Amino acid sequence: MNLFAGSLLLVIMIIVELIIMKVIKKEEIPWREVIFNINSGHVLMWFFRSAEVLVFVVILKNFSLNLLSNWSFIGQWLFTFFAWDCCFYWLHRMHHKIPLFWKVHNIHHQGEHFSLSLGLRNSWYSSLSSIPFFVILAVIGVPLPVFLSLSSVHYFFQFYNHNGVVKSSGILDKIMITPAHHRVHHGTNPEYRDRNFGGTLIIWDKLFGTFQKKIDGIDINYGLINPIRTDNPFWGNNLPFFKALKINVPDFKNDNNKIYIPDLIVGSGGFILLGLWLYYIDHEYDNLGIQQFYYFMLVFLSTIALGGMSDKKAWGIISWSLLTSILPLSFILYFNISDNIILSLFALFFIHGVYSLKYLFSNTKEKIKLEEAL
Ligand SMILES: [Zn+2]
Repeated sequence: MNLFAGSLLLVIMIIVELIIMKVIKKEEIPWREVIFNINSGHVLMWFFRSAEVLVFVVILKNFSLNLLSNWSFIGQWLFTFFAWDCCFYWLHRMHHKIPLFWKVHNIHHQGEHFSLSLGLRNSWYSSLSSIPFFVILAVIGVPLPVFLSLSSVHYFFQFYNHNGVVKSSGILDKIMITPAHHRVHHGTNPEYRDRNFGGTLIIWDKLFGTFQKKIDGIDINYGLINPIRTDNPFWGNNLPFFKALKINVPDFKNDNNKIYIPDLIVGSGGFILLGLWLYYIDHEYDNLGIQQFYYFMLVFLSTIALGGMSDKKAWGIISWSLLTSILPLSFILYFNISDNIILSLFALFFIHGVYSLKYLFSNTKEKIKLEEAL
């Protein structure tokens, strides 16, 4: 399965889960949070993923002990399946223990609802901070195709483990990190904090003493102990670093300069943006040169602008409207674009950007108060 088909599958699963949660379980997750989850990390995380793979290849070629070179194909896969998961356990545990790594991982725990989309909520920098933990596999001599394939398998398990529908997985709860176990990891309650660091298998937590079952009568409080009140991926990714560097950041909690922007406007904008992102990764290997750089920048900058809209900021609407109109139009004219898919996406983008402008002029402070009181 290529990256495009895989990403599309994840998006379909997220939508189906949201429908089940809303219709059957009567549980609603704000679109702002879903869109943040989906769009939070993908742009720069995938960019830095190339750096992670490059370091792996350099280590494999120059500093590997080649311990697996005489192993059978099945032996290599079995070893790597367990070794990858063990590396991930320590990666995750250290991302909670070491302050620098926690600043990277923090964004994943900012999410306050447990759902599949939370599984995609990752830092722009998570591929970089993964490097010290996974290069061990390159030193051992895990072949690149085995490393890449099993990374995808494990990341899919981790995505699945965030689903908010499945409460119990029967016998699997004994050997794997299931949604029941991973929910506990997201708890801020003292009983649940710093527990269940595993990705696919629960054996590492049991072996290294960090396993915790959900306790009857103690409901899980999701999120952070000191929540970060922003729906903008730019701030979500960078705020922990800015605070450490003593760089002035906006006061999100007592911000009185907000304008009313409906949740649905943010949600629909997020899905158009996601369409552009899927188009970008579907054409990743087409050697589009400068066009590819353009798509990348459009998605990256629009993600931040939409984040500004999510935070109910006027600058978010203005920059979103500019990005959805001027950039696509100049691109179509300059490169003489005739691809119907991208033209349709740009048309939707443009309509959304123009329509969003009307909220710039709406004086609806009462609506904001009402919405935030819910
Ligand atoms: Zn964590």
